[in-house]
Amino acid sequence: MARTANDSWDIATSVGATAVMVALARAVETASDTPLIRDEFAELLVSTPELAGVREQVSAWWAGDPDDDPADGSPDANHMVDYQAVRTHFFDAYFTEAAASGIRQVVLLAAGLDSRAYRLDWPAGVTVYEIDLPKVLEYKTETLASHGATPTANRRPVPVDLRDDWPQALRDNGFDAGQPTAWLAEGLLPFLPAAAQEAMFASIDALSGPGSRVAVENFGVDGDKRREAEQRWQELRAKRAARGLDTSFSPFDLWFDDDGRPDCGDWFAAHGWAVRTVNARDEAARLGREAHAEDRPFANSFVTAIKG
Ligand code: SAM
Repeated sequence: MARTANDSWDIATSVGATAVMVALARAVETASDTPLIRDEFAELLVSTPELAGVREQVSAWWAGDPDDDPADGSPDANHMVDYQAVRTHFFDAYFTEAAASGIRQVVLLAAGLDSRAYRLDWPAGVTVYEIDLPKVLEYKTETLASHGATPTANRRPVPVDLRDDWPQALRDNGFDAGQPTAWLAEGLLPFLPAAAQEAMFASIDALSGPGSRVAVENFGVDGDKRREAEQRWQELRAKRAARGLDTSFSPFDLWFDDDGRPDCGDWFAAHGWAVRTVNARDEAARLGREAHAEDRPFANSFVTAIKG
């Protein structure tokens, strides 16, 4: 199903299921022999009965076609788990530095199943605002509460669509634009229309006092590799459909591929922020996770910036 202007979802459908996919990668990484990151909540979050269908579809994609030679390995699983580990590691470090700089207000834009409000070692007095659609946040809150998990910061869910007036919703939940803030947009940009992305950057800037920080996962697509990955996915889907298996999760249909997106580093630099851009492949190499980096269909970067 292609995206529409006012579409909505819960955790098991459409864009909501992408949050399950990346949390599953964190769960796999956490359970590995030498994990780069530890997200003890990821497995709890992806192992409920209502997510069994999405999990099965993502796992089947990562495992590859059963008809393929197993010696070929599973490029998609390796890409995804390594990449998610690197990106989580990078943005965890971003928050550690932001907190060390004295920031006590954090906003996770499109929080999904991000468990940082429960798992990072926040200093006293930190408030973490989590923006996402109502059913996504409800699922996370209820699932973690049912396991007795308690946040390590003052966690405030802000159920709102980032295409709507989210700054007002944030203020209504206690956000104080007079205080420096650390923002994060991780795994988000392609799911927003270009106009909503531009409006979001403008709102971040307007709501940020001096000393505020922002971190954004910037998506660059390698056209040929994305087409190859999509083709593998479509072939697998066709076989699954022929076997009568669930094919409802379709990650390649969920991006807004509209034009008019300025480079986010350039955008923040033009608005007076001091920008640093880290190439995700370089970061993967730095962390010893370069093995599959060249094969990934995306040439992403991690952009961080500080407001002067
Ligand atoms: N940031 C989380 C992480 O890295 O684990 C989740 C990333 S997941 C790939 C994408 C998330 O973006 C989903 O939780 C989805 O609900 C959220 N999202 C996408 N578009 C949104 C919108 N317009 N308003 C609010 N949330 C949105």
